[in-house]
Amino acid sequence: MCIRNCTSVILTAQCPTAIKNICPNLSRFLSVNLRTGLFVIALLALGGCRETPSPQIEFALGTICRVNLYEGGTKNIYSRIFMRIREIDRTMTVFPGEFEGLIHNGGMVDPDSKAAEQIRSAAEALTSGVVAINEQAGIEPVRVRADLIEVLEKALYYAELSGGAFDPTVGPLVRLWGIGTDSQRIPGEEEIARALELVDWRDLAIDREAGTAFLRREGMALDLGAIAKGYAGDEAARIAKEAKIKRAIFDLGGNIVTVGSREQRGKELLPWRIGIQNPVSGRGAYIGVVPVHDKSVVTSGVYERYFESDGRRYHHILSTTDGYPVDNGILSVTIITASSTEADALSTVVFTLGAERGKALIESIPDTEAIFVFNDHTVMITVGLAGVFSLTDDEFLMSGIH
Ligand code: ADP
Ligand code: MG
Repeated sequence: MCIRNCTSVILTAQCPTAIKNICPNLSRFLSVNLRTGLFVIALLALGGCRETPSPQIEFALGTICRVNLYEGGTKNIYSRIFMRIREIDRTMTVFPGEFEGLIHNGGMVDPDSKAAEQIRSAAEALTSGVVAINEQAGIEPVRVRADLIEVLEKALYYAELSGGAFDPTVGPLVRLWGIGTDSQRIPGEEEIARALELVDWRDLAIDREAGTAFLRREGMALDLGAIAKGYAGDEAARIAKEAKIKRAIFDLGGNIVTVGSREQRGKELLPWRIGIQNPVSGRGAYIGVVPVHDKSVVTSGVYERYFESDGRRYHHILSTTDGYPVDNGILSVTIITASSTEADALSTVVFTLGAERGKALIESIPDTEAIFVFNDHTVMITVGLAGVFSLTDDEFLMSGIH
């Protein structure tokens, strides 16, 4: 898989050919998109050299992060954005491994160097991030960074809203299935029951004043995979806007954040056109297009991370009721709203709630829309997308009710 091969790629690309030289497989995704000229969810989106003068791509948050500041994007602004993305990655990851190596080698670097700064940040993340909270589960509260408290509070809000279908303490279950890792497998019933026992957002205690987070029972574990990329997208956009960037696209592994509009023609502002990934065929194909200004577009889908066994697909969004991948006929849910943190959390919330409850929830939230794709190839949209979303793939069918 190309993403794996590219793990340590950090590059500034003036043109897709620069990427091609470093990662030949990656260029396959890029060429698809060069032809379509669309920003397609869940893949690296390029509109060609002219439209994207200086995109910068880096591997972080377990995925490929692509930042394109269309005007006024200096090296310094790009660098601030990626530093923040890496910082969020370190704070919110559940994998301490890669940073431990960095810390261990710390003695050999010049204390004023960039490497030393990275090591300090990694060390801080290990003692005040998700890794530390998980290590101290059932032992004691951990003083954590303010940004992590903010994300945990949002995660708890969505856990309560969904009655626990979305749960940031899903860690033991995620670990057990290991989907997308070398140890992925179908666990036994008893193992699932034991892991489920440890999943309960009500046992995550946040003390905002003390700045601490605590998992009350030993063996509990946070997993912020359903929200961290969204938060990183919002932070990236914030830094760009503070630097007076008027037009930008952030694509953090398919979580899209748009700043401003694609183009101004006279008085008319042309929207970004976001392609909605076809969840059945390979990456790059899209089923329809949604135009947006200043919005985030985030999809949760069965095609993101999965393995197959005996002809069955086991994907990475897990039911906190039965402990298995959620199986409710939904192939993907896309959320369109201003905040990427909310879009990310809501895409998983709605996926876990199912079509009926999920749609009702989104209809009740102002300025928030959703696109559902089902395994019978029907597509359902919220009221606000009528006449806005256009279906372009005739293998799919619009359906009002599901
Ligand atoms: P992606 O990571 O592909 O963008 P999502 O935003 O839907 O997709 O997040 C899925 C991830 O969220 C999983 O990989 C896992 O880390 C975590 N997760 C799985 N099931 C749940 C759940 N029921 N509630 C909260 N998080 C979950
Ligand atoms: Mg999500």
